[in-house]
Amino acid sequence: MFLERFFPDDYYNSTYDIDFEALYESGVRGLIFDIDNTLVPHGAPADERSKELFSRLRDIGMKCMLLSNNREKRVKSFAEGVIYTGYIFKGNKPARGGYFKAMEQMGTDSGNTVFIGDQLFTDVWGAKRAGIKSILVHQIDKKEEIQIVLKRILENMVLHFYFKERKGGT
Ligand SMILES: [Mg+2]
Repeated sequence: MFLERFFPDDYYNSTYDIDFEALYESGVRGLIFDIDNTLVPHGAPADERSKELFSRLRDIGMKCMLLSNNREKRVKSFAEGVIYTGYIFKGNKPARGGYFKAMEQMGTDSGNTVFIGDQLFTDVWGAKRAGIKSILVHQIDKKEEIQIVLKRILENMVLHFYFKERKGGT
């Protein structure tokens, strides 16, 4: 089906619900994260929860990268806040370049890297185009800019079919 190109490989209500230890056990060695609405609300600085997550990921042995379409100032200051990660700003998702660059910096490949983000038409689609597994998470912020709200309407239509297929156990 045409819409399958937008289907994530997995879905969680929150990034913080993901069992990263299990991902490592399954062979995953690199994680690429979106920032805004995936790790913290849009534009928010690194909080305790996100700092603890990246310190935990370092202890597990995961390599991490932030891949954001946001500008350098925002991405760099967030990366410095959570410490244990590299970052790419103005990533131009859903273009594939940023995903490849992130894997190159981690020394991982499309077989052992997973992307985590909150938007289907940038985050998930880009990961799929780059050949990487993706996890969609529910956006943290309920209030969003109008152009994102419009995208969410389309996203929800795609997700309707995604969840239908998931429920069907295929
Ligand atoms: Mg986002």
